[in-house]
Amino acid sequence: MAEHTTASVRGHDVPLGLYLDGRWSETGRRFAVLNPGDGTTVAEVADGGPHEAVRALDAAVAAQEGWRFVAPRERAELFHRAYTLLRDRADAIADVMVLESGKPRAEAVGEFTLSAGFFRWYAEQIAHLHGTFADSSPGGYRVVTTHQPVGPSFLITPWNFPLLMAARKAGAALAAGCTTVLKSAKETPLTAALFVDVLHEAGFPAGTVNLVHTSDSAAISDALLPDPRLRKISFTGSTGVGATLLGKAAGNIVNSSMELGGDGPFVVLDDADVDLAVREAVTCKFRNAGQACVAANRIILHRDIADEFTRKFVAQAEKLRVGDGFDEGVDVGPIITEAQRERVAELVGAFVGSGAELLAGGRAIPGKGYFFEPTVLRVRDRDHDFCREELFAPVAALYTVDTVAEAIAFANDTRYGLAAYLFTRDLSRAFAVSERLDVGMVGINRGIMADPAAAFGGVKASGLGREGGHDGIYEFLEPKYLAVTVD
Ligand code: NAD
Repeated sequence: MAEHTTASVRGHDVPLGLYLDGRWSETGRRFAVLNPGDGTTVAEVADGGPHEAVRALDAAVAAQEGWRFVAPRERAELFHRAYTLLRDRADAIADVMVLESGKPRAEAVGEFTLSAGFFRWYAEQIAHLHGTFADSSPGGYRVVTTHQPVGPSFLITPWNFPLLMAARKAGAALAAGCTTVLKSAKETPLTAALFVDVLHEAGFPAGTVNLVHTSDSAAISDALLPDPRLRKISFTGSTGVGATLLGKAAGNIVNSSMELGGDGPFVVLDDADVDLAVREAVTCKFRNAGQACVAANRIILHRDIADEFTRKFVAQAEKLRVGDGFDEGVDVGPIITEAQRERVAELVGAFVGSGAELLAGGRAIPGKGYFFEPTVLRVRDRDHDFCREELFAPVAALYTVDTVAEAIAFANDTRYGLAAYLFTRDLSRAFAVSERLDVGMVGINRGIMADPAAAFGGVKASGLGREGGHDGIYEFLEPKYLAVTVD
């Protein structure tokens, strides 16, 4: 086997191998990681196949029993160390994230800060996980519910939040006492490598964390999901791939958590603070070039404030600076790939072809990289499939409604149910509408949702289970009930 290699990426050393059983290793095959800002190659990483995936699972299985019984305090210490090390590497991780995902550096720093916060939060919770105790109904024995780790877990992350998704999943799994096989997204393996390098240096035992990069994800899941030793899959990505993986997991009854696509309805009622709603909508829509599962997807405006909102929103959208993530003052980076950019252009064409009014942007930006103008559409005819699909692009679709009931009905008229947003000055109205929205999360007068203490996740085609918060840790724990006779 070739020796383990690193590359210097913007002056930072990044491991290029897979991380198996506590060591970086090579596979003899490589694939290129591209910078979506200019199409150049950032580095070439080891390409893992089924053989390496099974080696990763072997290591996770071997480490499971030992890791499970590491005392909570000791496990928490490892998390604290990882948190400190992460902070020391903030610059390296943020730079690498910009290069391979294209996001503006300020956003990469924001993602880094939140991800590190997850590690600190998990560290604080590890010693506070508990079960329940009850008298039995007929008497004579006690009902004790404890929790134990589900077992070796397969974690699949997308490219759009490469650090956050890895930290949120691996943190919860490891906090619960599960060992892990983490599969990076092929667009962003370097961020995952830096994250895992931190865990290695923090002293997580060999086998507890394994990292596989691959150019053929299906081959990896085909190798792992039928293996009876695998006990959990936690996936974040598109609904289509999630459904495929659930089908494969069903054959082996693998415990499954799915964080899938969204169709974020962003509802602004007639009594809203319009300036606040505009500000939050701009962030919620254009952050990460619109490539976020919780992005505002359908901006639903009450007719009384629609004109004012639209005028101010368009003015803000036109001011956004599009460019390379390292350039000062850039708000919107590139789309992740050329193919995705072509999809976005076609989508805008479909909207305009159906009578939508183009209020800003609308075109791919010529030159290097996969940039697209921040785009605003006023949509009158909602009777098309693309009005209920995830745009995943810097494209805002604005709709007008006449009543609150109509806003709720349109917000719920989708197969997704991840995040919704609601702007109103009336708290009881906020509660009443939130309760009627078929989603897992509602941002009330705010457009950003993620927090370590929050149970993040969706309903309907947006997924199963939650990430973050105590719920996120319990996703990796199974309750076990003990009936204890008491004389
Ligand atoms: P994707 O489904 O194409 O890929 C996600 C991950 O799955 C990647 O690592 C990919 O390599 C892997 N993958 C693809 N096919 C696979 C297979 N057969 N077996 C195993 N792994 C496979 O999604 P994407 O385009 O990378 O990400 C965008 C999607 O992710 C959007 O739909 C977005 O809404 C969703 N997302 C959801 C959340 C959430 O928390 N709900 C967060 C971020 C992104």
